[in-house]
Amino acid sequence: MADIMKAPRGTRDILPGESERWELLNNVAQEIFGRYGYSRIVTPTFELTDVFQRAIGQESEIVQKQMYTFQDKGGRSLTLRPEGTASVVRAYVEHNLGASGPLPVKLYYGGQMFRYERPQAGRYREFWQLGVEVLGSDDPTLDAEVISMLNEFYETLGLKGLVTLINSMGCPECRPAYIKLLSDFLDSAEGLCPECEGRRKTNPLRIFDCKQPGCHETLKDAPKISDNLCESCERHFGSVKELLADAGVQTEHDEMLVRGFDYYQRTTFEVQSGNLGAQNAIGGGGRYDGLVEQYGGPPTPAIGFAVGCERILLALGDNIKGEVAGLDVFIVVIDHTMRKDAFRIARTLRAAGISCDMDFTGRSVKSQMKQANKRAAKSVLFLGPDEFEQGKIKLRNMESGDETEVSTDSLAGAVKGMLV
Ligand code: AMP
Repeated sequence: MADIMKAPRGTRDILPGESERWELLNNVAQEIFGRYGYSRIVTPTFELTDVFQRAIGQESEIVQKQMYTFQDKGGRSLTLRPEGTASVVRAYVEHNLGASGPLPVKLYYGGQMFRYERPQAGRYREFWQLGVEVLGSDDPTLDAEVISMLNEFYETLGLKGLVTLINSMGCPECRPAYIKLLSDFLDSAEGLCPECEGRRKTNPLRIFDCKQPGCHETLKDAPKISDNLCESCERHFGSVKELLADAGVQTEHDEMLVRGFDYYQRTTFEVQSGNLGAQNAIGGGGRYDGLVEQYGGPPTPAIGFAVGCERILLALGDNIKGEVAGLDVFIVVIDHTMRKDAFRIARTLRAAGISCDMDFTGRSVKSQMKQANKRAAKSVLFLGPDEFEQGKIKLRNMESGDETEVSTDSLAGAVKGMLV
């Protein structure tokens, strides 16, 4: 016998049973994002490697260690997308989306992301994100709207025990002076891991991302960006917090929150779930006001977030039940020579908008009934040769057990009448 093959490490199949919960998650996102005026954007699963290198930053974990980069047969360096923002911004600039309508442009996406990380509970090498990007406004009201929409998304799903951390990362005005302060502090700091020793000179802010306890401890005493904001960033951050409090969205200011991408400016945020263990971030995002320019576009302030679908489903556990759609009709054939008639009837019913299925394997009537029950069929049509000859079929309501004989000419109407 041939070997049974397995999905690659860090990937998983979403099987029926789970896929319904999956769909529900997507439907909730689509409904809420749509209500806030977002349109869907779909970008390729892989991009030229430079698209990600330019945005995410050479010093980031993602670019240094986690990208699935390969050369295609034409010698191009391509990378499976590790996140969504870079692709959306690339598409925004390539198609000049800012020119074709009023700003801001509100976009949402969903799809697989790829990161070469060590797999563990809630951490995969291929995982799904839903995300939004809004391009064309730096108004703090927009930051508040985006964060409160994220909050509404989680609330609608029924997630409990969440904490929304928020910080400001400053802007090109105030960040250089802060980086100098931080570098001075780090010059005499001890206890950094070897990797952060390297980052000390190249990108000291990235050290806040490091999960090593030694680095974390050292940075507790470091100067914090939110204490060193310019007046305009200070005002912006103050407004965002005020608007969120006003909207009843609870946030906690985390002055160590930096997040793993170089493109963030000003507002950054992360939502954590209390019941997920180490991989507790279920979503996060921030402002990236300078990024569109880095891709050759006009100055365009922007903000976005992404949520991790697997972690949301893990956090929800059994509290989210996707509807397993029951069939309207299962057709049971008493005599298997009648399968071709069942096929014709199934086509007629489906064309009338009725979901139905039938047996294809020559099972006994008893096991066809089992099949109907397994598929949660609301009704069963029994196709017997004698009745069928007379233009009649028996229809059973599976809930009440009532049976009627219906005419083959008015089958769809009879089934619909029974389903209401
Ligand atoms: P990020 O793009 O890193 O800001 O991540 C946004 C969200 O995606 C996180 O809050 C997680 O919920 C999810 N996420 C990130 N990396 C992974 C991963 N390797 N496996 C599963 N979910 C992930």
